[in-house]
Order: sequence, then C-alpha cells, then structure tokens
Amino acid sequence: MNGKIGVTTENIFPVIKQFLYSDHEIFLRELVANAVDATEKMKALASSGEFKGELGQLDVRIELDEKKKILRVIDRGIGMTEEEVDKYINQIAFSSAGEFLEKYKDQIGSIIGHFGLGFYSAFMVAKKVTIDTLSWKEGAKAVTWSCDGSPEFEMGASKKKDRGTVITLYLEDEEFAVKGKISSLLDKYCKFMPVPIVFGKEQEWKDGKYVDTDKDKIINNIEPLWTRQPSELKDEDYLKFYKALYPMHEDPMFHIHLNVDYPFNLTGILYFPKIKERMAIEKNKIQLYCNQMFVTDHVDNIVPDFLTLLHGVIDSPDIPLNVSRSYLQSDASVKKISGYITKKVADRLEEIFKTDRPSLEAKWDNIKLFIEYGMLSDEKFCDRAMSFALLKNTEGKYFSVDEYRSAIEAGQKDKDGKVVCLYATDLQAQYAFIDAARGKGYDVLLMDCELDSHFVNLLEQKMKDTRFARVDSDSVDRLIPTEERVRPEMSEEDKKSLSDLFKAVLPKENEYTVEADNLGADNVPVLITQSEFMRRYREMSALGGGMNFYGELPASYNITVNMENPLIAKLFGEQKAAVEAGGKLEDFAAGSELLHQLTDLALLSGGMLKGKALSDFIARSQKVTADAFLGKENE
Ligand code: ADP
Repeated sequence: MNGKIGVTTENIFPVIKQFLYSDHEIFLRELVANAVDATEKMKALASSGEFKGELGQLDVRIELDEKKKILRVIDRGIGMTEEEVDKYINQIAFSSAGEFLEKYKDQIGSIIGHFGLGFYSAFMVAKKVTIDTLSWKEGAKAVTWSCDGSPEFEMGASKKKDRGTVITLYLEDEEFAVKGKISSLLDKYCKFMPVPIVFGKEQEWKDGKYVDTDKDKIINNIEPLWTRQPSELKDEDYLKFYKALYPMHEDPMFHIHLNVDYPFNLTGILYFPKIKERMAIEKNKIQLYCNQMFVTDHVDNIVPDFLTLLHGVIDSPDIPLNVSRSYLQSDASVKKISGYITKKVADRLEEIFKTDRPSLEAKWDNIKLFIEYGMLSDEKFCDRAMSFALLKNTEGKYFSVDEYRSAIEAGQKDKDGKVVCLYATDLQAQYAFIDAARGKGYDVLLMDCELDSHFVNLLEQKMKDTRFARVDSDSVDRLIPTEERVRPEMSEEDKKSLSDLFKAVLPKENEYTVEADNLGADNVPVLITQSEFMRRYREMSALGGGMNFYGELPASYNITVNMENPLIAKLFGEQKAAVEAGGKLEDFAAGSELLHQLTDLALLSGGMLKGKALSDFIARSQKVTADAFLGKENE
C-alpha cells in the first residue's frame, strides 16, 4: 500500500527540520521513549493476564552501524498492527501540525513529544526511516512502513517474526553516526528511563587495549533514587546519587526527597549544594524529568527562583510542557507545584532545626545564603523560615530569631522601648567597635553575607519592636540610647568653627556632619561613624534593590567631637586664640599637628586612613613617640 501522510500542511518534514534544528538531538529521546512505552505496556498486559505468552527479554536495544550510517531502535514491546500504523503514524495525531509548529516554534523542543510528533522527529536527522513491527495481538501480521521524507510512504508485509518494533534510521549526516555521540545522547536523555536500554557491549582491558566482552552494556539506571521509598534509603544512597549526577561537585549539605501523588504527581530529590564562592553559584542545576525521561535543565518558572540554586531532580508528568514559558508562570498547576516544593524545603529545614540542631548550626554558614534569598523573595517561605532561621553572634554562637530577641531583650532596650540588635559585618575591620560593645555587656551579631543588608531590613519588619544597628554606626554609649541626649552647650559660632576645623583636614571625597558631644574625659577625642540608615541603603542599592538614589550619593560620615576630652579642649583653645590674634581658621587647621593627629587617629580606627595620609600619620607619630619617650632625656 502506498499513501500520503495525513497532515494538512503540504510537507511537514521541512518544517520539522527547520524549527527543530537547534534541538534535533532529541529525536533519540523520542524514539527510545516510544520503545520504552511499548515495553511498559507489554509488561502491563502480562501482569493483568491479558497477555499469556512469553515476555522474553524486554530490553530496548540501540544499534549503530557507523559505516553505513544506520541507527536502529529495537524493542520487544506491544508492536503495532497495520491499522495501528495507519492510525498512529500515517494520520498525525492532530490535524493542523504545520500551523501548530509555526505558532510554537520557540518551544517546539519540549512539546514535540507531547503531541504525537515524537516519531516524526526522526526525520530531523534521517533521510529515510523504516518501521518493522509485529503486534502482540493474536493473529497479527508483521508490517513494514517506510518513508524517505516526502509526504509519501510505503507500507507492506514484513518478515518480522518476533513481537515488537524496529525503527531504522538511514542517517543523513555523519554527526549522529558516531558511537560516542549516541552514547552521550543516551546518557543525557535516557539515563533514568524505566526499561533497560542496551547500547554496545561492556568492555574489558585486554592486551593493552579495551575490547568488547559478550555482556550487553546497559546505559541506564531503571530505578533512580527518587522513584524509591525514602524509608528504604540511607544518607549514603543520597550522597552516591548526588555524586553520580554531579561528579565534580563537593558533597551537598542536605537532601530533600519529594514525594506527592495528590493533587498532582511529583517526585524528586533536591540537594543544598556546598557553596565555595558565594558569588559563583550555579543556577539551573536541577534536572526536570517526565516519567524518568529527561526533559530539561531549565526549571526556572517551575521552581521558585531561590530554589533554582539547589541541585537535584524533579520528576512530574503533570508539569505542562506544551505551553510557552511565560504561560508556565501563571499556570495554576505549576504554581501549586512550586508552592509545594517551597513547603517541602521549609518542612525539611524545620525538621532538622527541631531534631538535629547541631547539624543545622554546623551547616548554617553554607546554606544561609539560600535561606536569606528565599526569605527575601518568597513571603510564604519567609513566614516559615522565621522559626528555623539562625542568627550567629560574633562569638560564633547560634540563636533562632526568637531566642535571640529574648536573650538580649533585658539589656539592649532603648528609650523608645525598642530592642536594638547590634551587628558587625567584618570581625577584623570593626574589631574596636565590637570590643567596645561587648565591653558594655552588649551582644553583637555577625552579618557578613552578601544579602545581609536586605536581610536586616526584613528582620526589622518581621520582629516586632526591634531595630538593627551596626556596631560602628555610633559611639558605644549612643548605640542604644536609654535617655534623651544632652548636647554640650555651645554657641552657633563655635559649632560652625568646630565643623570648619575638622572639615578642613578630612578627606575631600566624602561628606561629613560634625557634631560636638560629651563622651567622657577618658573616651576618644574624635569618633567617625556612618549612620546606619545611609550605609544600609547605599549597600542595598549597590546590590540592586531599586534604591539607586542612595547609591549615587557620596558616602557620608558623622564626626563626633568629644568636648570632654582634654585634647579637644586644648585644640579648641588654641584655635580660638589663633583666630582672636587675627589668623585665618584654614591656616590654623593646616598648621595644627594636634588637629591632624586627632583626625588621623579617628580615620585609622574607622579603617579609612590610606595612602599619603597614612604615611604622613606614621611619620608624625614617630616624632610624637620620640618626643614622648625621649623628650626628657633630649632636653
Ligand atoms: P507519542 O509517542 O507522543 O504518542 P509518536 O509520534 O512518537 O507520538 O508515536 C505515535 C504513536 O505510535 C504512539 O502513541 C504509539 O501508539 C505508536 N508507536 C510509536 N512507536 C512505537 C513503538 N516502538 N512500539 C509501539 N508503538 C509505537
């Protein structure tokens, strides 16, 4: 029998070839998936008793003749009768394939298998395709079908004796007529398909080279870990599976086994990877499967953004692959799936928090970034995570958010009744401030993660009557003010000359607010701090928080001059005398070693003294030191 394939487009093959060009390697997945389906159906018929004969070896076999460029996919599945070939192959499943292809050309790779075009994808790589098939049904006659890529096909009787189907591809290009290529495609797409797939023979090392043995090489694992019951699996199993998926990666921190069948079907295993370099996190490491058939490793839109940082596999026949990516985002079932995955991740972390707190603490620094990202980007996750998110103090102790608030509540409440959480972002650079705060009996958190400036903001919203202040945002006495500040009494004129004096010698690139205050005679003469508010917003806008206005402002610092310090009293007295004697303030500022020394000391403790200013400071200090220690003897 000869005939014309039943599609409305005059010739579908050029369309297929053209649109699928970039993704044409999926033909193998489609053919193997069909063979696997037919085999699974056969098994089902046998177990329901409908089929009573011999099942035989049910492996799917892939054979390649590199020289002749012939590729075969052979199965011992249900086969097809003549009517079935006519129905499933000749009449393409839907009437307007061409129109459809035109419309969805961008997503064609993922939809092709879902619209009965799977088999036809063979024409992306083959100039001629034949089917030889014998149905399992009693009295069925073997059929052969062949087509050379024109809409005409030939169909006739076949000599095939055993049940099942052989698809033969006469490959067009060299590209796929290479064993290594076929191997890598099988590995990519068929690694976890549920029926053993044989390609070539196992090899052994003999007389200085690898030679084939008699043993078939099975390229897949028919029962990947996610299809098994979590209760029968150990941590080592999950680790081994991770190693198989990501051979070059370090061991993961945790795994989460996903397993639902209602209201949708979803299984999988997600891993929290260990991050070495926080900024070098790889996204898109999660692989998406549909009934153990690899679909894609672009799961964005299916899992919430923060979870794309995780690794692992998700398998669901319920994720609609037949729609565009933007549609996927608003799809109700995808939303449900994404919500479910988020919930499972939260459940698992909460469970570890409750039952194995030490392990959560040990791993916290490594997973903190995910959690914070999740909390910042996903409201629901945030609400859950408030119960297990940990805060670490500068002594390395961990607290839950509630625990922490209770721990500091009594000693760190300000005059407005707010609990003030102090934090540092750099143990070394902020050492002096941390030390001072601890000396006063305060606790200091360590917030050294990239997202912490956003995270601190979030915590302020979620924790009631609490605010955060970096240890160096003010002098230790004023970090947690318990009463209204009493400023030293000064005339406006004196305030201005004090301000002008320091501004004259401070580095020009920043902005300063100079204020007089009483910090005690023993306290430092000058203190440089950066207001919590300004600093945090600058940091957040640098990270991209939509607050660019702050990012463009120059850094601004508060200079607190301690009027009770005797050095300041001396400096201010000298300045007044100089001005009264008719001198200019600028000249006095330029010539005053005391002013320079005091300013430089303040800059130095804020980590802001650099370059020439630093070397001038060292030279001056050497002189001052010599005067102090040798002065008397020299006289
Ligand atoms: P799909 O697999 O998406 O239904 P295909 O074009 O790949 O679309 O196949 C169409 C139909 O042809 C299948 O549904 C199946 O009934 C039949 N078929 C294809 N390959 C085989 C095979 N190896 N054995 C038995 N039937 C097959």
